[in-house]
Amino acid sequence: MSAIDALVTSLPEGRVVTDPDVIDSYARDRTFLEPGKPLGVVLATSRDDVVTTMRWATEHRVPVVPRGAGTGLAGGATAGDGTVVLSLAKMTAIRELSPADEIAVVEPGVITADLDRAARAHGLMYAPDPSSYEISTIGGNLATNAGGLRCVKYGVTRDSALGLEVVLADGRVLDTGRRTMKGVTGYDLTGLFVGSEGTLGVITAATVRLRRAPLQAPATFAAEFGSLRDAAAAVSAIIAAGCQPSLMELLDRATLVAIDDWRHIGLEASTQAMLIGQSDAADGQEVASRMEQLCMDNGASFVAVSSSPAEAEELIAVRRMAYQAKERLGACLVEDVCVPRSALPDMITAIEATAVRHGVQICTVAHAGDGNLHPVFIFDHGTVEPPAEVWAAADEIFRHALSMGGTLTGEHGVGLLKRRWLALESGPVVTEVQHGIKAVFDPLGLLNPGKAI
Ligand SMILES: Cc1cc2nc3c(=O)[nH]c(=O)nc-3n(C[C@H](O)[C@H](O)[C@H](O)COP(=O)(O)OP(=O)(O)OC[C@H]3O[C@@H](n4cnc5c(N)ncnc54)[C@H](O)[C@@H]3O)c2cc1C
Repeated sequence: MSAIDALVTSLPEGRVVTDPDVIDSYARDRTFLEPGKPLGVVLATSRDDVVTTMRWATEHRVPVVPRGAGTGLAGGATAGDGTVVLSLAKMTAIRELSPADEIAVVEPGVITADLDRAARAHGLMYAPDPSSYEISTIGGNLATNAGGLRCVKYGVTRDSALGLEVVLADGRVLDTGRRTMKGVTGYDLTGLFVGSEGTLGVITAATVRLRRAPLQAPATFAAEFGSLRDAAAAVSAIIAAGCQPSLMELLDRATLVAIDDWRHIGLEASTQAMLIGQSDAADGQEVASRMEQLCMDNGASFVAVSSSPAEAEELIAVRRMAYQAKERLGACLVEDVCVPRSALPDMITAIEATAVRHGVQICTVAHAGDGNLHPVFIFDHGTVEPPAEVWAAADEIFRHALSMGGTLTGEHGVGLLKRRWLALESGPVVTEVQHGIKAVFDPLGLLNPGKAI
């Protein structure tokens, strides 16, 4: 019996898909990367399915690619030849939601925004909100340590992860962490698994922290600038003034034009950048006015402040449209550098200069309050790989970010796409230790091989 037939017989009927067309759709993420030809896809509905799959993988030495919704932007869920894709998307139960403990226990396939909505019914919120929160899963968010719009105030996914249930490469089940707000017994294995991109184990449940949802609607502003650098300087001024925004997003003109062409937002010819900010503090309206003033001091041509939830949602919706608007322009290489917040204006200037020097189209959006920039390189839809000038420009941007004390990836992960630059950021000792950790959890190298480290 072939290895894949053995898997089909060891799992309940219907769990394994071997139709090549269906497999192909599960082998891709949102990058341009072309996947290989996996042997099959497991549609797990329980931890037992995952345990059975990993035991089978160990016995037959078959690599496994865990997968949530496939919205990743680094190739982490891109599956290679001879692998099996292990989809957690059907494990969607919110097993517990405790207002008294301000926690939830969830399965990995829960859609991020669904957990937030469930928490809101109890006056709570699940804070991490990647722009993809209506389509990404909690398991994928944990595996990539996803950021989001609110993380400028509430932190990234790791800051909300208390404990995990993980199936290891050999099928053993590891429970990490706890359901308490504090706890320091032993090494922090929860922190280690968060952001490990499916290379150390398969997350089958998570205990996550919920927070009190703000009682009042947030005060939101949108500021228009005649220069991108001025907008970045306003961000630095807002952070330095201690305004503690709950959201601070920056869009450059190229991004705004792409959105305007698609959704007609009435973009002014002179607008080179838009800054969207929010305060959900009790005195949010006052804080928003201070942020408005700081924008004007730094060259804003126009600032609109709103406290109406509907108007605020419209402004945020403009930001959430950015990625889809760019996809309409061509194929996209989405980058994710992060720099110390004070370096934001210099990094923006460096990106603009790089685009001109290499003659490439770059549209930039930024989780500006975190110093996290997404320069998106647009290239011809028909091209399989980005052309050489795109890679050269990306290389230059990575080196700039690192020279400013930044990092290659703020939130998307290394996946396959950033491996070739890893050595620039991680020295030999870091690399050796990381491979040592991988060998402890996955000595046969079966979990998402070739990714992350
Ligand atoms: C429009 C758009 C906007 C985005 N905005 C943001 C943003 O603001 N912030 C941000 O951080 N990201 C953003 N992303 C990227 C992406 O949505 C995140 O990386 C997200 O966390 C991936 O979740 P997923 O369920 O799609 O995971 P997948 O893409 O399926 O997988 C991502 C990685 O996690 C691993 N994995 C998935 N599930 C598990 C599991 N249960 N156990 C172990 N490993 C697992 C996979 O092997 C892979 O390495 C955006 C993407 C899009 C398309």
